[in-house]
Amino acid sequence: MLDSYMREVNYLRVSVTDRCNFRCAYCMPPEGVQQLEHADILTYEEIVRVVGIASRYCGINKVRLTGGEPLVRAGINDLVRGIKQLGTITDLAMTTNGSLLANQVEGLRQAGLDRVNISIDTLDEDRYRDITRGGDLQKTLHGLQQALQAGLEPVKVNVVLTKALTEQDLQQFYELACKLPLFIRFIEFMPVGYHGIDEGLSVSQVKQYLTAIGGSDLQPLDDIKGSGPARNYKLKGMQGVFGFITPISERFCQLCNRMRLTADGRLKPCLLSDDEIDIKTALRCGASDERIAGLVMEAVKQKPVGHTLTSSCQDTFHRRMCQIGG
Ligand code: SAM
Ligand code: SF4
Repeated sequence: MLDSYMREVNYLRVSVTDRCNFRCAYCMPPEGVQQLEHADILTYEEIVRVVGIASRYCGINKVRLTGGEPLVRAGINDLVRGIKQLGTITDLAMTTNGSLLANQVEGLRQAGLDRVNISIDTLDEDRYRDITRGGDLQKTLHGLQQALQAGLEPVKVNVVLTKALTEQDLQQFYELACKLPLFIRFIEFMPVGYHGIDEGLSVSQVKQYLTAIGGSDLQPLDDIKGSGPARNYKLKGMQGVFGFITPISERFCQLCNRMRLTADGRLKPCLLSDDEIDIKTALRCGASDERIAGLVMEAVKQKPVGHTLTSSCQDTFHRRMCQIGG
């Protein structure tokens, strides 16, 4: 479906929970955030219904499950299966911190998950434990290996640019992408749910380091299907790809094709705006499919032309990233 600025919106990111087993410094305070009541979180049946309506009436054919941490919600395979069985979603992906992935990969694949993005902000065990406030890098890397083996490809690695990422990590990410067909995407930090983290490397610094590490210029690649807003590059010897996602320094709002559904049933036309449309009340008041479709269309029409966030903006958002899904 086209929005008011003639962008085709075909992608829904669904946050399945606000809970998480990590407390990443840039996403959550150490004590966590005020959790939703269980009764306020959409059931799997409700999520499948919304996705089905959004696909039938509005042309959504791409879905990403996120959170909080989607793998902490019990029975997540049932949701994956339910969405896949709709038969209208051609690309069903998940963003996860990877810590619980290894044991769940096979079930997720069998249920119909197509691919995963795994968040790994550094390849140094100590810095990883610090930035995630307790995570075990080895468990996450094991999950990544299992995902590759299960064919949940392309496996993408999300790296937020924070102080945890050093030149040494970039060398290791390069070596990893030489060995494995990973899409490693460097993402600018967005001041949403900001907790005073120190500024990390900029995109241009990362590019400079990678050029030095690879001994040649980064070779720009043509648009890769499914890459979203990432600008992709290769270096000599790489099986994988490096991508850069720059919501702050180079906005890509003109390419935006997505909407978000929060765990408590609000449709968000834009990640970087507090505007929301309540869909849960309609779902729970016996609204018809046509009424729900009307709300989805209203949210598409409300997509703003672009955001106005800069790196120095004060964080005034009422939701943290873990309450939206990234
Ligand atoms: N827990 C899962 C994970 O970490 O992958 C999924 C939810 S998390 C909110 C989704 C993505 O948003 C992750 O890749 C995370 O690194 C990213 N993210 C969280 N806070 C961010 C921020 N302030 N700026 C940029 N990316 C952020
Ligand atoms: Fe949890 Fe993901 Fe936020 Fe880290 S980025 S605290 S793993 S929701």
